[in-house]
Amino acid sequence: MFDSLSDGLQSAFKSLRGKGKLTEGNMREGLQTVEQAMLEADVNYSVVKDFMEHVTERALGQRVLLSLRPHEELIRIVYDELVSILGPVDTSLHLKKSGCTILMLCGLQGAGKTTTCGKLAQLLLEEKITPTLVAADLQRPAAIEQLHVIGRQLGVPVYSDAGEKDPVKVCQAGVKQAEADGSRVVILDTAGRLAIDKELMAELARIDKRVKPDQVYLVVDGMTGQDAVNSAGAFNKELELDGVVMTKLDGDARGGALLSVKQVTGVPIKFIGTGEHLESLEPFRPEGMASRILQ
Ligand code: GDP
Repeated sequence: MFDSLSDGLQSAFKSLRGKGKLTEGNMREGLQTVEQAMLEADVNYSVVKDFMEHVTERALGQRVLLSLRPHEELIRIVYDELVSILGPVDTSLHLKKSGCTILMLCGLQGAGKTTTCGKLAQLLLEEKITPTLVAADLQRPAAIEQLHVIGRQLGVPVYSDAGEKDPVKVCQAGVKQAEADGSRVVILDTAGRLAIDKELMAELARIDKRVKPDQVYLVVDGMTGQDAVNSAGAFNKELELDGVVMTKLDGDARGGALLSVKQVTGVPIKFIGTGEHLESLEPFRPEGMASRILQ
């Protein structure tokens, strides 16, 4: 674990090791480096503050200073705390034993909803389950065709009705068709907006109420940092979210937003998107993310 930390953190902790014995003073110095790393990883300020208070309290409470290897003990506490608040792990789609499970994806425009529909379909195909995709994003003109392209690529059915203006009706008809076809899973691709607005939320709340999805996942762009936190808070207020998918973690983003989103929504992070390809979806692993945030 120590090796996976960045040079900066390693040297901070090494300097502690060099001191032989930790004091409250030099322990705080090491923790400040951790705080800095988290802020640089784009973790929300108040989330970092809470985290640091908790870690400091635990470190002092556990008498780290008196332990045999105090610097290692301190690193372990930071790492364990991070893993613990990023968890618990729940990457199951909670498919029903019988009947059709309805998954609904929501999020801002461009977050990666349509792509994630395809990625989840790919994942299900690997489990020998052929889902039906429903094109209920009636805001973005290209979204319906984009979903059809994905459907053709994967060989899975896509329901759309370009003449229908009401997304609730599209979802209901899509679910009906999926059930008639004997699909075990139907995935609803809903509309997003560039920013949160009342109309979007009302539309999603209406779909939620009338179509009653079994799982509602928020798709969040991992590159957007602090904005991701604000939008996640707004979606979570209106909808009962069951999970979060954070996309675009293949880039430089350190993934700090993921920690903030987890803290704000309290719902499990299900998957992370690691590329534009339909195979680029990974089940979320707190250990890997903790190392990445502390890089
Ligand atoms: P939507 O408006 O929420 O449906 O977003 P799209 O699915 O159309 O995705 C917006 C853009 O983000 C597209 O160019 C996707 O290829 C890209 N995208 C989606 N997920 C990822 C990801 O995990 N990594 C990268 N690099 N790009 C992604």
